[in-house]
Amino acid sequence: MKEKPIRVDYRTDKKTKPIIEDIEFGREFTDHMFVMDYSFAHGWHDPRIIPYQPLTVDPAAMIFHYGQSVFEGMKAYLSPKGDALLFRPQKNIERLNRSNQRLCIPEIDEKFVLKAIKQLVSLEKEWIPTKQGTSLYIRPFIISTEPYLGVASSQQYQFIVILSPVGSYYKEGVNPVEILVENEYVRAVVGGTGEAKTGGNYASSLKAQEIAERNGYAQVLWLDAVEKKYIEEVGSMNVFFKINGEIITPALTGSILPGVTRDSAIKLLKHWGFKVTESKITIKELIEAFHNGILEEAFGTGTAAVISPIGSLVWNDEKITINQGKTGELSKRLYDTITDIQYGKTKDPFGWSEYVDKALIK
Ligand SMILES: *Cc1c(COP(=O)(O)O)cnc(C)c1O
Repeated sequence: MKEKPIRVDYRTDKKTKPIIEDIEFGREFTDHMFVMDYSFAHGWHDPRIIPYQPLTVDPAAMIFHYGQSVFEGMKAYLSPKGDALLFRPQKNIERLNRSNQRLCIPEIDEKFVLKAIKQLVSLEKEWIPTKQGTSLYIRPFIISTEPYLGVASSQQYQFIVILSPVGSYYKEGVNPVEILVENEYVRAVVGGTGEAKTGGNYASSLKAQEIAERNGYAQVLWLDAVEKKYIEEVGSMNVFFKINGEIITPALTGSILPGVTRDSAIKLLKHWGFKVTESKITIKELIEAFHNGILEEAFGTGTAAVISPIGSLVWNDEKITINQGKTGELSKRLYDTITDIQYGKTKDPFGWSEYVDKALIK
């Protein structure tokens, strides 16, 4: 796409900003949004920032029928000096294009989209909440908009970015959660769409999540779809275990979403001198490690919670309690280090944080 300046249609009736303590994740949105269209004839075109508003979409639009869509999830953080920061945003945009490839959606220009996101965040900077642990959630997504009921990939799309101020995930400190190992339903299969960030993966995971919640669990631990043996993910997070001083996380074998937080945790852990293994691990091996007294910590990783410690796991009729149900030392260290980097409060050894405004000046 030729680089054109992004047209901006400013909103005149600005919304009042919510009290950050009162808001639920994903309920409030800022004043503006970014939109760009795709047509077969013109490619991606007409990038614009416009007032946040409902979409006008034909009821025959393919998104409603066959679910061809992708999304991303990232955050903008405010540094102590008041600068807006993004955390490894190019990783999210690269992943969006990998998801696009899998869903037969035309790829976006990564450099341009990153610039557009920065321009939108910069415009909405006053919406980045200032309180400890709060941030501005960024949700880029693409929907197929061609009005057509034939089963094929759409020839029209919209790429949209909306922003949502979010409170601290852990209002009363990092809290370990109870997890149910899911034996019946599966999240993804090798060859399916598990590696892509697409709504269908979430739609198909709701059933197990609902049953688990009804029974008092926070999330499910997903096993592989074929043998129901190998651990894959926890809820919509990647999963890590500390066993006998070493770290193990399921290898990216095709049905696991490659998390940016996962990658960051691996790099930090290696930097700190830990042995990190990405490989298959069975639920049986994990329970055995527990009985041998060498399962030290378990935690999920993802943009929303950063690190979510697992306090206990229930598999069939057995319940194991990890680290006495408390947040482990390493989970805490990872959480503190990653969040300090995200908020620009500490040395950033890998250059992960990016200034929103400085990049625009360049
Ligand atoms: C988004 C997501 C993750 C976490 O990815 P991050 O980039 O760390 O936020 C993990 N698993 C699933 C299924 C996801 O959709």
